[in-house]
Amino acid sequence: MRCPTCRESELQDGTTQLETTVAEQQFSAQASALVCLKCGEYLVDGRVMERFELEVAWKLAFGPPAGESFRFMRKALGLKAETVADLLQTTPETVSRWETGKIRTDAKAFALMAMMILDRRRGRGWKTTQNYLAELANPGSQRQGQVDLGHVA
Ligand SMILES: [Zn+2]
Repeated sequence: MRCPTCRESELQDGTTQLETTVAEQQFSAQASALVCLKCGEYLVDGRVMERFELEVAWKLAFGPPAGESFRFMRKALGLKAETVADLLQTTPETVSRWETGKIRTDAKAFALMAMMILDRRRGRGWKTTQNYLAELANPGSQRQGQVDLGHVA
């Protein structure tokens, strides 16, 4: 593939350093990429970028619960502020105030966001915490009936 920037060279398999700073904390990772040896341009697969953001989000999940970290974690999950507000049973305005540091981010909300990051790290299809919060936010059916005791030794 020809370099889209300088158009003078073919892109080659190589590596690049991914870097980001969130809430004054720096994170980096070595990632495979297509590199232009002529101009230094590089292309990183979207899935690699997603993984990088998820891993940074997981580091951020251990606090401190800064609004900027909360925002990064939310975006790493691909969730809109409105969606998170619904899940956490608060308003988009409150989420915005957390994220911009106007008010202190609720520690319980931050912890739940951390659990959603953990679910996502476990792989596609793992949305346990998010599904649970969605159930609680929209209570409908009751759960009476048979319960499974599994195997008691
Ligand atoms: Zn180039």
